[in-house]
Amino acid sequence: MRIGVLALQGAFAEHCAVLRKLDTESFEIRQKRDLEQDFDGLILVGGESTVMGKLLRELDCMDPLKQRIREGMPVFGTCAGLILLAKQVEGGLVQFGTMDIAARRNAYGRQLGSFETTAQMQEVGEIPMVFIRAPYIASVSGNTRVLAEVDGKIVAAREGNQLVTAFHPELTDDTRVHEYFLDMVKHA
Ligand code: GLN
Repeated sequence: MRIGVLALQGAFAEHCAVLRKLDTESFEIRQKRDLEQDFDGLILVGGESTVMGKLLRELDCMDPLKQRIREGMPVFGTCAGLILLAKQVEGGLVQFGTMDIAARRNAYGRQLGSFETTAQMQEVGEIPMVFIRAPYIASVSGNTRVLAEVDGKIVAAREGNQLVTAFHPELTDDTRVHEYFLDMVKHA
């Protein structure tokens, strides 16, 4: 199993470190040529969704990756990665637009821009959650299942082979969300 990690900007090194800890091979996607490599799953990392969207287009990577996601390749989007997958984006632009969620950018305001908590994630368990200028999911539709809520706001969801979290599991020592994703890849 081999995971491609979008490495145009943001928290890609941390995701690769978690995968290494789980004895899973990964590589960084930095340009179109990297998409010729074999990979079974994709991680869209946290950072700035607008910057990543712009770079994805400029580098000609948007359409080929969108195609792979549409064909069912498992994808895990954290924070900005959640925004990249959302079909509706409040306060930003739609990028891949493959998942039936409405994302609200910078949803917690300045004061609560960054915080940590512990909450239950369905099918995973009680986990630490780190939020950094995070979005939340204002609503889900279609076949999307809500996997976690914090203070009544949706912070994790899954639709088929697409998994998103508004928080950053790669910034904690708890590897269970990544294990959950790798399980999705294994069964895809
Ligand atoms: N605020 C960022 C965005 O809108 C997301 C923040 C993050 O990924 N930590 O893209």
